[in-house]
Amino acid sequence: MENEVVSKNFIEQIIEKDLEEGKCTKIVTRFPPEPNGYLHIGHAKSILLNYGLAKKYGGQFNLRFDDTNPMKEKTEFVESIRKDVEWLGADFEDHLFYASDYFDAMYEGAVKLIKKGKAYVCDLSADEIREYRGTLKEPGKESPYRNRSIEENLDLFERMKNGEFEDGSKVLRAKIDMASGNINMRDPVIYRVARMSHHNTKDKWCIYPMYDFAHPIEDAVEGVTHSICTLEFEDHRPLYDWVINELEFENKPKQIEFAKLYLTNVITGKRYIKKLVEDGIVDGWDDPRLVSLSALRRRGFTKESIQMFMELSGVSKAQSSSDYAMFEYCIREDLKMKCNRMMAVLDPIKLVIDNYPENQVEYLDVENNQENEEMGKRQVPFSKVLYIEREDFMEEPPKKYFRLFPGNEVRLKNAYFVTCTDFVKDENGNVVEVHCTYDPATKSGSGFAERKVKGTIHWVDASQAVKAEVRLYENIIDEEKGKLNEDGSLNLNPNSLVVMKECYMEPALKDAKPLERFQFLRHGYFCVDTKDSKEGNLVFNRIVSLKSSYKK
Ligand code: ATP
Ligand code: MG
Repeated sequence: MENEVVSKNFIEQIIEKDLEEGKCTKIVTRFPPEPNGYLHIGHAKSILLNYGLAKKYGGQFNLRFDDTNPMKEKTEFVESIRKDVEWLGADFEDHLFYASDYFDAMYEGAVKLIKKGKAYVCDLSADEIREYRGTLKEPGKESPYRNRSIEENLDLFERMKNGEFEDGSKVLRAKIDMASGNINMRDPVIYRVARMSHHNTKDKWCIYPMYDFAHPIEDAVEGVTHSICTLEFEDHRPLYDWVINELEFENKPKQIEFAKLYLTNVITGKRYIKKLVEDGIVDGWDDPRLVSLSALRRRGFTKESIQMFMELSGVSKAQSSSDYAMFEYCIREDLKMKCNRMMAVLDPIKLVIDNYPENQVEYLDVENNQENEEMGKRQVPFSKVLYIEREDFMEEPPKKYFRLFPGNEVRLKNAYFVTCTDFVKDENGNVVEVHCTYDPATKSGSGFAERKVKGTIHWVDASQAVKAEVRLYENIIDEEKGKLNEDGSLNLNPNSLVVMKECYMEPALKDAKPLERFQFLRHGYFCVDTKDSKEGNLVFNRIVSLKSSYKK
């Protein structure tokens, strides 16, 4: 906790100091996704952090596709990433860039290093390079090609570009220090030969820059002042600074590292998600059990809830895990005042009110949200036959069960008191119908106070009910038993998806549109599914239940 408070604004402190000392007059940040998959909740942290800082200090926020490795990149991902960033409200205005647009600048940078005697073409194989690199304890060994002349290097590098050499047969390496304590500085490879078609530059290049060389150039070219990344790049910072200095950029971006966001019980690694998708265990990258941003959006999470979660989880240098329950707390907080509170029966049985007039319908006035008067009222039909939850009736109740059982009286939410008189079972012994009588004097809002009841249950008028499908979710991984099984497979929670095919809802829900959100009394917050919900065939995703396990 202490750690969090102290370090919460450590990036802001750095920026404020830089502004004060005149190291920059306007800050520029960026979010640099590699378009090789969908964005997840962890990326949202980086997006909102970078965008938030630019906004706070009147600076600029760039969205830059870090598309320097054509092997895994696809246009499909470019589109989805852009959509996600926009959805989160991180407005990049017209500052949308592609690293591949700088391939020429990178090539020229490499030539410049060669001319300065700071880079050389090396013929060692990948394995040999690894071998020569040494270990954390032992220094590396110099490549026999390290002392090629500048002329020879210029010639060979140009011929690499012109496609004269096989893939993998030659690389360009920075000439730094094979004895450096930092392995990243032991003559890192900065260009390789690889015949790959790029989604943007097509077949123009057969050499591609390595990340550690490309990234600082991208930042410098764009005028980025504060290059914020995650902790695993800390050891790469000396190389980042080396590239910036050797290429003599006037703009010298500052790399700052922070700890990644990890969530309990949740899978964020692309590798695992890809496997779940490929194995058909989930319904694509936007399956509501996943935490890709498209999945969270489909499930019904709001950008406000994500923003709040990021604020609560803070920015720190210390590796830690955030509680999924805290995320759930955020979405509940956000939806509390925004959603109509409706009645929906997910596991229905019939309740027949024997003394209620046949063919009579009453329309009860119900507040849409008891905590937010501004949301107005609606009318809810009530008549002789209703649906109630199966679990709200018990033939032989345990102690402290206050709902329906023979002889007991309960309140039907917003309606009347009813007393259970009888029930009907089918041939398998399952209760299919409950009978009761109602007391007309107890109508909700009438001020009836002669007696009290302990239980209140919700219900839906059977004659006008809307039938819908409801999907209930739990975490896809059962973390109590560990993320992985002994054989390395994922330890899946068999209850991560429960589909309730025959739910009954108030008629007001009939025209619910994709992404509309509601509270269903006692059940939680729900969102109309964007993929499978159709008119006349509604599908709701449960975003979160009402019960909280989060301790503030
Ligand atoms: P993954 O490891 O899930 O495949 P990645 O880091 O390879 O993700 P990139 O596209 O390279 O994905 O990441 C874009 C930006 O998002 C980087 O600046 C990276 O540091 C940041 N980022 C990725 N994961 C997280 C996370 N869990 N928390 C915060 N920032 C993250
Ligand atoms: Mg990456």
